Parts: sequence; structure tokens; C-alpha cells
Amino acid sequence: MIIGNWKMYKTVDEALEFVKTLASLTSKSQVELGIAVPFTALLPVASMVEQLKLSLWVGAQNMHDEAEGAYTGEISARMLRDVGAQFVILGHSERRQHFGESNSFINRKVKRALQEGLHVVLCVGETREEREAGREEAVLQEQLLKSLEGIKNLDEVTLAYEPIWAIGTGKVATPADAQKVHAFCRKLIAKRWGAEIAILYGGSVKPENSGALLCEEDIDGLLVGGASLDPDSFAKIAKEQK
Ligand code: PEP
Repeated sequence: MIIGNWKMYKTVDEALEFVKTLASLTSKSQVELGIAVPFTALLPVASMVEQLKLSLWVGAQNMHDEAEGAYTGEISARMLRDVGAQFVILGHSERRQHFGESNSFINRKVKRALQEGLHVVLCVGETREEREAGREEAVLQEQLLKSLEGIKNLDEVTLAYEPIWAIGTGKVATPADAQKVHAFCRKLIAKRWGAEIAILYGGSVKPENSGALLCEEDIDGLLVGGASLDPDSFAKIAKEQK
């Protein structure tokens, strides 16, 4: 599974142009592909995907935890479903860092998203300081257990390991380092939930490093930021085989 996270990029016209180009480049792709687009592009992109019968997941990058209410500027899970979103990214480090999102807030969002029928791509990841202090596993364990607290069934949850120091920095984790963390998360989830879920790697993924990352046993797919904005580079990554 390869998911693109467009962040705050692309107008509706740019998004639709991207989808058309990607469709022509990936018609034979065996990989499950998804794009997390800005809210404004959800309805047009989801409509185009349906119209052209493309095999492309369409999702959002955030949502509020409440069903509805007086939350100016926010968007609900039901609204996302209404415009065709199939999944939502929650707990992205940019939300944690710039908007002060806590594990408990993310936990409430995960519950709401699942309740409303959205698949959740939950992001976890440590800072450079935490890694240098050898605390990455403790940090990830806390993020994971708190963000998923009280959730019994993880069938509609995908995990994305995104070391914060690797996001948008060009510094990708080595495949071996990422593998170690993925194996840790997989074991933790098996122990706590008795479940097996997909774990994606994210952080400066590019066509040049995606193949080596996907060769690792516990890296099931990729969450791609910058390199997903260009259909050619996203299609190149999508051509890698697990
Ligand atoms: C992301 O935003 O989830 C991400 C991984 O970004 P980038 O690939 O640009 O590091």
C-alpha cells in the first residue's frame, strides 16, 4: 500500500490533473494506492475516481473528534464520508507539532473516524532528540497505546511510522533502522491486541529509496509526502513491488 499525503498543496484543477496523469501511469500497478488530498479537493477527486473506475483510495489528512458542533473551521468524520473520503490520516507529526495535538485528542479522533466508517492511517514517530537519547521505542509505545486506547478492533487501522527527523528533511531512515522499529510496533500490537495490521514507513521517501525500504520484512507500504505531489515520482514509487 502506497499512500500520498499532499499536505496543503494543490487546487482542485491541479488535483484532477494529477489523478488523470497518475491513472495513465499506473494502470497496471499491482499496489494499492491512495492519496490524502486537501478538503477542497475531496469531492472532485472522489467523483473522478468513481467516474473513471480507478483503483485509488481517496482520503483526508485530518478531522475533528466531535460528531458536530460549534467548532469554527473544523470538519467532521461524517462530512468527510459525505464527500467521498474512505480514509483519514490522524496523528501526523505536523498536527502534533504545529497544532498541539495530544495522544488523547488523537485517540478520540480515531474512535470517531472508525465509528463513522473511515479507515484510519495513524501516524507515530519520534523526534531526533528522542532517538539520540535511545528513547524511540518508549515514545512510540506511548503514542501507540494512548492513541489506540479502548479500541478493540484494529481491522480498519493502518499504522504509519514516520520519524519526525525524516519528514520533509531529505534524511530518510535506513531500511534497517525502519525495519527495527516496524518489528517493534508489530510485536507490540500483536501482544496488546492480538492483531496484525499494515505498517507503512514515511519520511523523505523517493523513487530512489522506496525499493530498498519495501524489501524489509515488516515494511508493508509507504506514506509519501513531497514525492507524492508529482505523478511521475509517485507512479515510480507505486511500481515498486513488496
Ligand atoms: C509526510 O508528510 O507524511 C511525509 C512523510 O513527508 P515527506 O515524504 O515529504 O518526508
